[in-house]
Amino acid sequence: MLEIVSRSEWGARPPRSVVTIPLPTPELWLHHTAGNEQGASGVRAIQNFHMDTRGWSDIAYSFLIDRISLEVYEGRGAGVRGGHTFGHNSVSHGLCVMGNFETTTVSDALVAKVAELVRFGHGRGWWPAQLSGGHRDVRPTACPGANLYAEIGEINRLAIQDEMEDPMSVRPGDVGEAVRKFQQGLLGWNSDALPRFGADGDFGDETEEWVRNFQDSQDLTVTGVIDGVTGALLLEYRPDPT
Ligand SMILES: [Zn+2]
Repeated sequence: MLEIVSRSEWGARPPRSVVTIPLPTPELWLHHTAGNEQGASGVRAIQNFHMDTRGWSDIAYSFLIDRISLEVYEGRGAGVRGGHTFGHNSVSHGLCVMGNFETTTVSDALVAKVAELVRFGHGRGWWPAQLSGGHRDVRPTACPGANLYAEIGEINRLAIQDEMEDPMSVRPGDVGEAVRKFQQGLLGWNSDALPRFGADGDFGDETEEWVRNFQDSQDLTVTGVIDGVTGALLLEYRPDPT
């Protein structure tokens, strides 16, 4: 399960006011901070800027993602009107990746993490199954930065793919060609993986341990189960058949 750093955990100040909005919201928008803030101290700095300099009631975004650690931080949270997308705040949530993606590139793991958050919130009835778009789609702004904006299609593809494939996740005890493909991905990622049995098509303890290692290395939620996001990343490491 996706872990979210709560407001109390990152040391949020109380909001000046809270306006609730109906769930699920029909829209979900993607932002970047355009700054260099990182971690809990960075989230606190953004909140201070929004409350003290901008004069807003709270940090603008519903949730934030650290582009380095991939930690997810609760902003205003679900079901609370944000201050992220002018004209849309009563009918949407706003997800914000910390960084300036006009200049910073976007890692595959970050794309997967945003997709995981989209899926997580959709599963809880907070918002639609996919991003509605980026801030720049509805306002004259560079946000969420050209490089992150270019990944929205891939984020949405992963978010949906995972939903469709979740019931068919590949998990310990499974046997067959799908298991073998993902094992080949593990070996492409790390040639030391699966030292005893290799890509034998049998999802045993050794494969589960290496799936966990892989998920940990990609900053995915460590489950030992190959869901859609883990599977898509693993297949990128699978050598092309020759
Ligand atoms: Zn924005």
